[in-house]
Amino acid sequence: MKRLTLKFGGTSVGSLEKIQKVAGIIKKKHQEDKEIIVVVSAMSGVTNDLTKKANLISKSYDPKEQDVLLSAGEQISSSLLSAALIELGVKARSWMGWQIPILTDKTHTSSRVLKIKTDEVLNFISNGGVAVIAGFQGVSIENRITTLGRGGSDLSAVVIAKFFETDSCEIYTDVEGVFTTDPSIHAKAKKIEKISYEEMLEMSSLGAKIMQPVAVQASMINEIPVNVSSTFSDDEGTKITSESEINYKNEVTGIAYSKNDAKVTLVGVVDKPGVAADIFEPLGKNNINIDMVIQNISSEGKKTDITFTIKRTDLSKAIKIVEDSSKHLNYQKIIHDNKVAKVSIIGAGMIANPGVTYRMFRSLADKKINILAISTSEIKISVLVHEDRTQEAIKALHKTFGLD
Ligand code: ASP
Ligand code: MG
Repeated sequence: MKRLTLKFGGTSVGSLEKIQKVAGIIKKKHQEDKEIIVVVSAMSGVTNDLTKKANLISKSYDPKEQDVLLSAGEQISSSLLSAALIELGVKARSWMGWQIPILTDKTHTSSRVLKIKTDEVLNFISNGGVAVIAGFQGVSIENRITTLGRGGSDLSAVVIAKFFETDSCEIYTDVEGVFTTDPSIHAKAKKIEKISYEEMLEMSSLGAKIMQPVAVQASMINEIPVNVSSTFSDDEGTKITSESEINYKNEVTGIAYSKNDAKVTLVGVVDKPGVAADIFEPLGKNNINIDMVIQNISSEGKKTDITFTIKRTDLSKAIKIVEDSSKHLNYQKIIHDNKVAKVSIIGAGMIANPGVTYRMFRSLADKKINILAISTSEIKISVLVHEDRTQEAIKALHKTFGLD
């Protein structure tokens, strides 16, 4: 008998009517003689509301208490869904993370799953029950409730598929799958049939909001294929799987963007060995992640400009750190810009096809879009552009790489 992990996201259980609809979908699969483990998110908006409340109580809410608070949304949705199933005549029950238990490390607010005890749930599903597991939460070795980071019920689904050895891991959401780019930005975006783990990891890390990046990473490491599809449509979704299963026709599989970045430039830095290390060391020690870096060539060999990008939320902290260490850093001035966006083309097909880089730059140049910074990896090229030009850049690239 086939065993399935079915994960329903916040919008899929966003109202009582939607919960009843989801119960209907599960009942149908269950009648096809399948063993079913359901993973559920909180109803949409609930976790955000709890976060707001936490911020009103304290700007430095105790992380252990924050996990108790934020995990509450999944307790509500898992009970409502179990009860809706029972109402349809299906044997069902809910499990919180601590009841199973889903054992995690003690990195509160972004814990990682170490182990899941399987016997009780397996016993229940092999006797005809549908197990409904609260996503996003676990319990630490210190017996405290933990959560897996925002969007963490995706990670719950992947690790549950792993530990319960299910035949599939299906993520139900409010879009029909992974698209070549954000359909709300570009009407010509098309659904991707199959995408590799690596490409999906780049897409989700670079701004596509379909799946939590650490969940994609977990599916890649454990080679668990994931299917993403819509709760509200019967269309086949997107399969996230290994590269060997995919036949690459295009160099570029998808285009992602994010508006979470900021750019900092140190003008007139003295050009001598060790300056870059001196600039980035205090930032690194203060947990500021550096993304792109460009150093200009100094024309007379004395002074240069160094530009780097960081998360927008880190901007004021980063400026302060650089200014505080300006005694040892020899530069003329610091400038910054947070009205920037990162646009990335992603595709395993670009490895075997030279010329992708220049075609990307040419396509942007033809639209007179200025490139502020560049970074590349084997399967992606990212450029930083002015935020106002994001949509135009995406449309141009979508066309250039044959995705229209
Ligand atoms: N409810 C949690 C959140 O909103 C987990 C999830 O939905 O995946 O982040
Ligand atoms: Mg989610």
